[in-house]
Amino acid sequence: QAKREGRNGVRFFNSMLDVAAHSQMFTEVRLRRALQRQALQLHYQPQVDAETGALLGFEALVRWTDEELGAVSPTRFIPVAEESGLIVPLGQWVLNEACRQLAEWGPGVRVAVNVSALEVARDDFVAGVERALQRHGVGGEQLKLELTERLAVRDLHRAARHLSQLRDLGVRLSLDDFGTGQSSVSTLLKLPLDELKLDRSLITSLTDSPQAQRVVESLIGLARGLRLNVIVEGVETAGQLDLLRAMRCGVVQGYLTGRPAPPDTWADLIRTLRADRTPADGPPVASG
Ligand code: C2E
Ligand code: MG
Ligand code: MG
Ligand code: MG
Repeated sequence: QAKREGRNGVRFFNSMLDVAAHSQMFTEVRLRRALQRQALQLHYQPQVDAETGALLGFEALVRWTDEELGAVSPTRFIPVAEESGLIVPLGQWVLNEACRQLAEWGPGVRVAVNVSALEVARDDFVAGVERALQRHGVGGEQLKLELTERLAVRDLHRAARHLSQLRDLGVRLSLDDFGTGQSSVSTLLKLPLDELKLDRSLITSLTDSPQAQRVVESLIGLARGLRLNVIVEGVETAGQLDLLRAMRCGVVQGYLTGRPAPPDTWADLIRTLRADRTPADGPPVASG
C-alpha cells in the first residue's frame, strides 16, 4: 500500500516537473514564433516630473498576446527569453521598435527601454543600439536604457565599458529595481549611471510605514550624493505622490499618472508637449 502511494507520489512529482518543463518549452517555441512574425507590441507608460506634472518621457514595456496562451506577462516570458537566448533578438526588436516610434513622435520625446544584463555584456550590444538609432534617425539623447537583473560579476567590467560607449552617444542609463536584491550598491559603484529607479516594492507601504518613508528618503539622499537622478516607480495614489514630492524625489511613474498603453493613446499628449517646446526649440520667429 505504502509502496504504491510512494510510486504514485513519484509519478505525480515527475508529471509536475513535466508540466513545468513543457510549459517553459511551449512558451519558448511560441515566443520564437511571435518574434519571427513580429507579433509583439510595445506599450508606453509616462514618466512625469513630480513637482509640475510635466511629461518627461515614457518607459517602453513589451507586450505579447499568444493565440493559445493569451496575454503573457513579461515577468513570465522575459526569464524564458533570457534562459533560451531569445532575449538577444527580442532586445534588438524592442530597441528597433522604440526608435521607430521615437522617429514617428519626433524630437523632444524620450523613451526608456529595458535591457537585460545578458544583452549589455555582449560584444555586439553597442553596435546594435547604434544601428537602431541610425536606422530611424533618432538622437542618442532621446534614448534611456533601464538595466534590469543583476550582472554576473565577471561581466560587470565589460558591461561598464559598453555602457560608457553608449553614454558618449548621449544615451542615458538608469539602474532599474533599485532597493531589491536585483540591483545593489556595489553595482551602483561600478556602472556609469545617470539615474536610480526605486522599485515599486519600496513604495507600496509608503503611506502607512514611517520606516518605509525613511528608507525612501535615505535612498533619495544617496542618489543625490552620487549626483544621480531619482525616478520612483509604482506610484498609485495621491498620498504616495504627496509624500514623494515632500521628499523632492524628482520623477514619478505609475498607475496614478498613467498606465502602460499603446502608443496612439499618447498622441494628443505628445502634441501638447511639442507645442510647449516649439517657442524655445524652433527657429526664431521672423519679425516684420
Ligand atoms: P520594470 O522595468 O520594473 O517595469 C515596471 C513594471 O511595473 C511593469 O510591469 C509595469 O507595467 C508595472 N507598473 C507600472 N506602474 C505600476 C503601478 O503603479 N502599480 C503596479 N502594480 N505596477 C505598475 P510589466 O510591464 O509587467 O513588466 C515587468 C518587467 O518585465 C519589467 O519590470 C521589466 O523588468 C521586464 N520587461 C518589460 N519589458 C521588457 C523589455 O522590453 N525588455 C526586457 N529585457 N525586460 C522587459
Ligand atoms: Mg523598467
Ligand atoms: Mg522597474
Ligand atoms: Mg520593478
